[in-house]
Amino acid sequence: MVLHHKILNYLAKRQQPEKLYHSVAPVVIHPFYHAVCEEYTPHIHSLYKPKNSREFEADLDFLLRHFQPVDAHQVFEYQVKCRPVEQNSFHLSFDDGLREVYEVALPLLQQKGIPATLFINTAFVDNKELFFRHKAALLVDRWRQKPPSPATQKEIDRLLSVPYSERDQLDEAAALLEVDFQDYLKKNKPYLTTEEIKALQQKGFTIGAHSIDHPRYAQLEKTEQIRQTLDSCAYVKKTFNEPKTFFSFPFSEDDVPDSFMKAIRPQVDLSFGIRGMKIGQEGRLVGRIDMEKKGKDAQDTINQAFLKYKILQILLSYT
Ligand SMILES: [Zn+2]
Repeated sequence: MVLHHKILNYLAKRQQPEKLYHSVAPVVIHPFYHAVCEEYTPHIHSLYKPKNSREFEADLDFLLRHFQPVDAHQVFEYQVKCRPVEQNSFHLSFDDGLREVYEVALPLLQQKGIPATLFINTAFVDNKELFFRHKAALLVDRWRQKPPSPATQKEIDRLLSVPYSERDQLDEAAALLEVDFQDYLKKNKPYLTTEEIKALQQKGFTIGAHSIDHPRYAQLEKTEQIRQTLDSCAYVKKTFNEPKTFFSFPFSEDDVPDSFMKAIRPQVDLSFGIRGMKIGQEGRLVGRIDMEKKGKDAQDTINQAFLKYKILQILLSYT
């Protein structure tokens, strides 16, 4: 697996984007981010490496050189109404409803005329609650301030692997480490407010749902998967009057059964996952490309996604 990854990386770095992206029929790609951060952000940086505004702008310029920007409603037309894709396009989205989308990403997107979709967790809007992974990152940040030792690293690894079902452990650890999550929410306001989300909407964002409080769906009962999905979608519809209902899976769509997709079908127009470029244009589940992979610029990431897509196409043509 590691070897495959290395080979793919090696090959991706040697592809001419222009040639590679035109070696397949026109497609819509779906790059996604969480935040764009100018400085170290304690609730994020232990989880993944967000881009700064310079790196993000370079990504956008790269995307604009090779793809036409489209919004979620156009994606719906391509995916569900089977409208043919005439030129390579990209649909940008952001997960988790973080404040930096408004403060850092929005001005750049407006300047370049790029629409985007924001997927929000309804429990976090207005800084009501902290995402359990953000809690883990804050605790890790506190441990990293201690002198490094094998015990410290062990504790960091443990905190980063606490699952959603055992998230109470994070509150217990916070009490021991004297980390005050409520105080952090109040002072740092990591998430967007309802008013900011409405302002984003007026400036060209489509608002979608990303579950209530970001569980890993593979670890939930189906009834809870459906509740998390439909309740958050209903909240978005009611609060932001979106004409269509868009949903992105928290963490990933892995191991979510087909019966789940059938169950949400009447209320959800289109769902977004994280598994790169999907073979076959049509369908109610769209694959997105993670743009926050450590040390990778847009060209590396998109090249890799296209290469995987081409390899899959070749393999499928033999079956
Ligand atoms: Zn998320």
